[in-house]
Amino acid sequence: MAADDFASVPGNAELRRRLARSIREGTLGHAYIIEGTGTVRELASMLARAVNCTGNGVLPCGKCPSCVRAAAGTHPDIRTVGRGDRATLGVDTVRDIRADAYIIPSEGERKVYIVEDADTMTVEAQNAFLLTLEEPPEYVLYLLLCRSSDALLPTVRSRAPSLRLRPCTSGELSDHVLRVGGARARALHDREPEKFSELLLIAGGDPSLAESLLEGGALDARIAEKRRAQSMILGLLRGDADAVLDLSRTKKPKRTDTLDLLADMERALRDMLLSKRSQSFDTCFFASPGDADAASSGISARRLASALDCVRDCASGIEKNASIGTALTAMAIKIRS
Ligand SMILES: [Zn+2]
Repeated sequence: MAADDFASVPGNAELRRRLARSIREGTLGHAYIIEGTGTVRELASMLARAVNCTGNGVLPCGKCPSCVRAAAGTHPDIRTVGRGDRATLGVDTVRDIRADAYIIPSEGERKVYIVEDADTMTVEAQNAFLLTLEEPPEYVLYLLLCRSSDALLPTVRSRAPSLRLRPCTSGELSDHVLRVGGARARALHDREPEKFSELLLIAGGDPSLAESLLEGGALDARIAEKRRAQSMILGLLRGDADAVLDLSRTKKPKRTDTLDLLADMERALRDMLLSKRSQSFDTCFFASPGDADAASSGISARRLASALDCVRDCASGIEKNASIGTALTAMAIKIRS
């Protein structure tokens, strides 16, 4: 592949190479599931441009009339459909796509339908989709986007191969952030390297999340949340009464905020637990295994493991609509004892 094929989709070099080759050889199929976190939308959008690109350099070239129209969102043969504010994507939307697919492309080579949140399609919608997946018009390309294809019917999965996007490595993510993040990213990298590393750690291999952390005070706010979760869980483990008081003050916030707090606690505990066994592993919360080990000095692996269970139980209760206050208090008592 040319070095910059699908350049805006970081990492995933093998997948990008495979797609570019299929497009150049004219062997790209008619339907794909694009699954994973982060850049699924970006990959779908670049794929839609690439199949209609009339340039002959990198894919997509970004300069030909087709690429320019696609970038402006005005390409008549590239359509994005989603569920809007509904919980599911219904059969009417799919019937509409099916009918539209039989109208030949107005200017492009391929007519592309990007279906967002495809995993929210009802069973009826998926069965309606099957009819067109079995014998799609020759020029059609369906791209079904989702976090995971598990919710799709096996019959749909068997007709639409999955392109699974892997999280980026820290190095790939760093290159990407420096490339798209402009002066702000470079200043952070050069002047506050620890904070830049923290950004990569928080993003966890997700380029879209990394980009969003560069906006406004998002990174500082996220770092403050992490510190709070860390001091709270360590406070509970050390039997500190203030930590429980602090926790009781979090009864008011939204369910999602509480789940985020618990997810941070879970990541901190995971790193601390691993640091008891090894000094070389990829951390997901602390800057280094050494930091995780230092933070948990004097706390046994057994206590950390049991606290991890308590935090997970609490989160799963809250996900199932348990009272936030009651669940947090029960968790605090169990961890302290
Ligand atoms: Zn082009």
